[in-house]
Amino acid sequence: MGYEATRQYFKRPDLQTAIDEFEENIEAASPWQLLVGYHQYRRQLENMEGLLASQERIPPLEHLVDAHAGQPATLVLVIGESTNRQRQSLYGYPRPTTPNLDKMRSELQVFDNVVTPRPYTIEALEQVLTFADQEHPDLYLTTPSLISLMKQAGYKTYWITNQQTITKRNTMLTTFSKQADEQFYLNNNRDQNLTSKYDGDVFEPFAQLLAEDAPRKFVIVHLLGTHMRYHYRYPEEFNRFTDRTGVPANVTDDQLPTYNSYDNAVLYNDYVVSSLIERLRATDPNGFLLYLSDHGEAVFDAANPDILGRNEEAPTGPMYTVPFIVWSSPRWQAQQAWDFSASLHRPYSSSHFIHTWADLAGLRFDEFDPSKSLVNAEFKARPLLIGNPQHPKSLIDFSLIKPKKPKELVQQKRETEDRTL
Ligand SMILES: [Zn+2]
Repeated sequence: MGYEATRQYFKRPDLQTAIDEFEENIEAASPWQLLVGYHQYRRQLENMEGLLASQERIPPLEHLVDAHAGQPATLVLVIGESTNRQRQSLYGYPRPTTPNLDKMRSELQVFDNVVTPRPYTIEALEQVLTFADQEHPDLYLTTPSLISLMKQAGYKTYWITNQQTITKRNTMLTTFSKQADEQFYLNNNRDQNLTSKYDGDVFEPFAQLLAEDAPRKFVIVHLLGTHMRYHYRYPEEFNRFTDRTGVPANVTDDQLPTYNSYDNAVLYNDYVVSSLIERLRATDPNGFLLYLSDHGEAVFDAANPDILGRNEEAPTGPMYTVPFIVWSSPRWQAQQAWDFSASLHRPYSSSHFIHTWADLAGLRFDEFDPSKSLVNAEFKARPLLIGNPQHPKSLIDFSLIKPKKPKELVQQKRETEDRTL
């Protein structure tokens, strides 16, 4: 499967090389894409230059204290793609789309009120993986990332991705991934919307790094999840939802194949996430695995029966609601005795995720804010701000989303095609 060939070892990032590669990829794009994407392109280029250059200058976190210092640990963060929790039986969807996670439910902490700040991969992860949030959207340029945090805490860091890494929009993701000690890039397809590249490909590198002789490991697994076009996301044996059983009445005959293929993609995603948990568990680790999706997806839900995809200008609930689950190993549980029953229904924006992760990992530092940790006794509920933070007055609370009318569909389709993720 060739991931060895693309396995890369982190060295000091070379800004000019990165920019050269970036320009090359831009030139390969069609003129139409270039025209439409020019503004995005400038912004991304400026961001990348800033990020790569400033990465060298970002000071470490102040007064880092590790409750598990000196102990072996394996901590895994699985980032999903375009998966809204309403379509998972784990969260009450009537179709059994998550049978494996349902079976291991007693081992899971299932948080059911988490939303993403933005319905696009990069814009969401710029906040999920850093101290940036909707009120401080540029902090990802000047403060350490989650990867830097874990490196500072003495973890060897790995990034496995089944997302493409060569398009202009993904350059930001590449920049984040390059902060890890080792990368496994599994997807070099130019148009992942139209390509079958199943997430099960992450199993082999995952098994390999779990077997590596490093006492402390931090692993990010970035899945392609349930990204549009859904029927490319799963092999034939997962094509199990094919009729109208369990389908809401609003779904038309024309919409039914798409609706069903999304559920089949969720079913395959359940297999992937549960298999990662099983493979981790089999190594008898001291650690945990956390899974969340970058954002959700609207797929003809009853409140917005004509909406498919995502559009920040015309938001609907399913674009923002994400699954958020934590599995902890018996060895970890024996020490920590985690009980999050008081936290499972808290309203939470994944923009503050770095505080939750630090809390779970037993890390404290000056920048840590316990009121922004989903699992902390000092947690404080805040508005769940959604919208484009470059226009602060346009930010609204998630609860204020109103159902949209079908006229939004045309605009939404264009948006989805401009933005590969
Ligand atoms: Zn995404």
